Amino acid sequence: MELFLLDTPKFKIDGGAFFGIVPKTMWEKKYPADENNMCNAACRSILIKESGRLILIDNGIGEKNDSGSQDGYFVDFSEDLEGNIKKTGFDPKDITDVVLTHLHFDHCGGTTKIDALTKNEISVFPNANYYISQIQWDNAMNPNYREKSSYFKNKFEFLADTNKLRLVKQELYLTPNIHLRFFNGHTPGLMLPVIRHEDKTLFFAGDLIPALASIPLAWVSAYDLYPLTSITEKQEILKEAEQNNWIIIFQHDYYNECCNLILTPRGVRANKYLKFNELFNEN
Ligand SMILES: [Zn+2]
Repeated sequence: MELFLLDTPKFKIDGGAFFGIVPKTMWEKKYPADENNMCNAACRSILIKESGRLILIDNGIGEKNDSGSQDGYFVDFSEDLEGNIKKTGFDPKDITDVVLTHLHFDHCGGTTKIDALTKNEISVFPNANYYISQIQWDNAMNPNYREKSSYFKNKFEFLADTNKLRLVKQELYLTPNIHLRFFNGHTPGLMLPVIRHEDKTLFFAGDLIPALASIPLAWVSAYDLYPLTSITEKQEILKEAEQNNWIIIFQHDYYNECCNLILTPRGVRANKYLKFNELFNEN
């Protein structure tokens, strides 16, 4: 297996929204904000080459659009997912499978782009099958009022008319080493991978634990639809992760890529901050 952590366009997120009910006097010691109270956010994808398949997990915000829908997020388009895939030696056309953890715009916006010549919206990964949980798909097709503005249907609705959509009805081993697990606090049917590689187990924590500062149980984003469910889900997965010595990968933490965990009297906490590219080169 080959494994790459790739950047997609970064953006800014309101600090109050990022940390929910936690007062700024507490969170700003762990995660800085600018003069507008905006926090820098990364947006990472994972690329996995395994037994003839090339699997991409999430594809970021995508390219700049003119709809105004990205306004307020200060998107930095200097990171380009297609370019970053090419730097690994692969091409977007080589991707066989795209796993979308959920369909909020910052996770599936790279699914399509506007063709420079025809101005039509075209698929960025034309040869890939798309794995989305059935629960999330149903939720995104008929969104509730609170979540509606996070879904850009032009990015995924077209998949229904292709033979590429694989709706996942229950937790699944996509390959023997990639286990797709379900969570429901952030949004119904959030699907996050636990990946085994060499002697390590990695958990891509997506929007369940978007940053290292989000590890304490009550530090739940205001975007989460069901914060009490998020707390229970975090508690259970952090316990499992700590007991089994997993490494947590943060999708949105601008400053930290990953960490391992330690059990403290106050609960599970980050132990060592780790760089992804150093995880597998320790000897
Ligand atoms: Zn989300």
